[in-house]
Amino acid sequence: MERQIRRAAVIGSGVMGASIAAHLANVGIPCLLLDIVPDQLTEEEKRKGLNLDSKEVRNRKAVNAIKRLKKTKPAPLYDEDLVSFITPGNIEDDLERIKEVDWIIEVIVENLDMKKQLFERVETVWEKGTIVSSNTSGISINAMVEGRSEEFKKHFLGTHFFNPPRYMKLLEIIPGKQTLPEIVDIMSQFCEKKLGKGVVIAKDTPNFIANRIGAYSLHVTLNEMLAKGYTVEEMDAITGPAMGRPKSATFRTLDLVGLDTFVHIANNMYEKVTDEAEKKVFKVPDILREMVEKGWIGEKAGQGFYKKVKNEKRKEILSLNLQTMEYEPRKKAVGASLETAKMAKGTKQKLKALLSAQDHYSELAWNTLKKVLLYSAEKVGEIADSILEIDEAMKWGFNWELGPFETWDAIGLETSVKRMEAEGLSVPQWVKDWLEAGNKSFYTKQEGTTFFVSNGAYKQREPKPEVISLRTLKEQNKVVKANSGASLIDLGDGIACLEFHSPNNAIGADILTMIEQSIEEVRSHYDGLVIANQGRNFCVGANLMMLLMEAQDEEWDEVEHIIRVFQRTMYHLKHFEKPVIAAPHGMTLGGGVEVCLPADQVVASAETYYGLVEAGVGLIPAGGGCKELISRLSSSVTNPEVDLQPYVNNIFETIGMGKVSTSALDAKKLGYLRDEDTVVVHQDHLIYEAKQAALRLVEEEYAPKPKEDIRVVGNEGKAVLKLGAYQMKLAGYISDHDLLIANKLAHVLAGGDVPAGTRVSEQYMLDLEREAFLSLCGEPKTRQRMQYMLSKGKPLRN
Ligand code: NAD
Repeated sequence: MERQIRRAAVIGSGVMGASIAAHLANVGIPCLLLDIVPDQLTEEEKRKGLNLDSKEVRNRKAVNAIKRLKKTKPAPLYDEDLVSFITPGNIEDDLERIKEVDWIIEVIVENLDMKKQLFERVETVWEKGTIVSSNTSGISINAMVEGRSEEFKKHFLGTHFFNPPRYMKLLEIIPGKQTLPEIVDIMSQFCEKKLGKGVVIAKDTPNFIANRIGAYSLHVTLNEMLAKGYTVEEMDAITGPAMGRPKSATFRTLDLVGLDTFVHIANNMYEKVTDEAEKKVFKVPDILREMVEKGWIGEKAGQGFYKKVKNEKRKEILSLNLQTMEYEPRKKAVGASLETAKMAKGTKQKLKALLSAQDHYSELAWNTLKKVLLYSAEKVGEIADSILEIDEAMKWGFNWELGPFETWDAIGLETSVKRMEAEGLSVPQWVKDWLEAGNKSFYTKQEGTTFFVSNGAYKQREPKPEVISLRTLKEQNKVVKANSGASLIDLGDGIACLEFHSPNNAIGADILTMIEQSIEEVRSHYDGLVIANQGRNFCVGANLMMLLMEAQDEEWDEVEHIIRVFQRTMYHLKHFEKPVIAAPHGMTLGGGVEVCLPADQVVASAETYYGLVEAGVGLIPAGGGCKELISRLSSSVTNPEVDLQPYVNNIFETIGMGKVSTSALDAKKLGYLRDEDTVVVHQDHLIYEAKQAALRLVEEEYAPKPKEDIRVVGNEGKAVLKLGAYQMKLAGYISDHDLLIANKLAHVLAGGDVPAGTRVSEQYMLDLEREAFLSLCGEPKTRQRMQYMLSKGKPLRN
């Protein structure tokens, strides 16, 4: 029988240990969290009369770590209640309990001797078969288990999570010399399928893949800056989104990581690498040492390369002038290459724009990039089997848009190698051989299948059935219908996928038209429909700009028409005679939620931030959002004697306050998702799972939903809702305009002016939504809110 991981033990409850335990809890795996026994009492423990033998003291570290999980930002847990999956303990009293688990992960301080000592102790109680791993960032996996039994070594490997484990996709798996291949397989499957990680197999070399290349890249950037006198702002302007890297670029990243940690990693690298040229790069510059000595170690100390200051008027971020070592107001980096890169679309074009110019920013980009590309090429075979692992590690662990070899292809492999050689740089022989054999790039695609260079030949990238890529399907001509905002794509097996691709995936007329056309197409040629996309966010709501323009021009007929079309389309989706599955991910707001509500089932990514946020722009949901939540309530509470009011109060609060879930599980708690809606941890598997859900409904001989009569709380219930809102106003929690919106919302949710318990039709509820929405569009303060949201990207509470 295949071995399963059902329970785990995490040893070390610091930053990483606690948050790894939290992620195990997220996916329903109970775990022990063990730390050392403190050797001193705190003042509070003394006051309580505790001593060093008290359980409370002995478990203090793990207990406090669990408490901290609830306060940590970004939240390590999908839902605070999940902490109940984590049992605190200590390694003196509870070591025996590791016999109960299937996987033990060591997450203690980064010190070889301490890790070795711990594994020696673990082996005294270890039972054959239990998998043991280390979360080390870069210590040798083989060195850690020197002296351990052969059996232990066979079950031992590195599992390197990136921080924060819930959010960072990368997980490096590092097999030791003796690790059994099936143990590597079990852990790879488990970490991918259960924990939702992007697994990359790394070799047991210093700092493994991502930290090795990432640290090298930071060092060459830093060295280039010191050699050529660029400013901190200039460096960050070039090495951020202009090169397809995160906004935090170089120095914001260093401030976030902590200069002390960075120096620690760099020193480690310096000691471990044997190549002299490589050693030189990893030598920590004096200026960094000085900063660490002064305590200017970054965000945790309040200053590093940047410093946040607060003067009377506002907060300001200053940057460090490395010539004077004084903090100064930031100066915007301006240069032709940078401007063209900013304007270019997509990372490939941005890089090309940046590198092809002739100014000093272009030179900076090239000088840092070429070194990272050459270094990555030199390390193929040493740190990873192929270019694929290196590219994936950099994308998933450092949030680069393109890995080094994808970058190389993007800027033109042949031309850039010529340029490197002309500059006297040494290009690895395998790259030269690859070009001499007539190849033009490291990757190639044929009918949607990717091939990459491996040992001097193109190798097919292993297809994974759980990973459905809409882009690949498009390359394979699977688009059935398309317009500017959306496409209908054939997923195979009788299921089609409606993909939004408008700016921010906001819903406008084009998307609504495509939904209607998709319904027609699926009606005639398919068995079911999935609504999903692979953009940054599922959908940020309706197209607010279009609405604001009509409202400002007082084109009320037009506004009414827009809402009617939206409502009608959602209604058609709901009562469609074939199954509809919505698969949201990321931000799913306002109209985005209203597209999911009519679906038979929502298959949501665990990382879905879901909410009816219309109140924030001075409106109420009018695409069926109010109706749908009330209708669900009415159909789930079938006994007419049961009072609906407390449930309606909750819905009123959720919509009125525009609550957004912090995860899909939280969306269930908020009442946006139902029990039958499911959660997928690995975002790349979302469309596959949604398709499977559609196929299951097809198999069950799906019957469309009947039209509903909805029981409402009527006038009496409305009075309760309005009273609640009025009290909020009196207490100063909400503004006059909030109160106005709340009253309109109360009217809609209560079912208008009818006696309590009246049953109304869906269309009647939609009419209430539409009237309330239209009247709010006429309010100047609502228009101010819309304008503010469009210009500032956050709600205005006027
Ligand atoms: P940390 O200092 O926050 O936590 C270490 C914890 O281990 C402490 O609570 C300490 O009391 C405990 N501990 C020490 N010796 C122990 C022992 N013998 N038995 C049980 N507990 C013991 O460290 P961290 O940042 O969580 O890092 C832990 C490991 O994870 C290190 O190997 C580190 O390199 C690696 N790592 C860290 C990060 C990161 O961003 N912090 C990222 C990836 C990997």
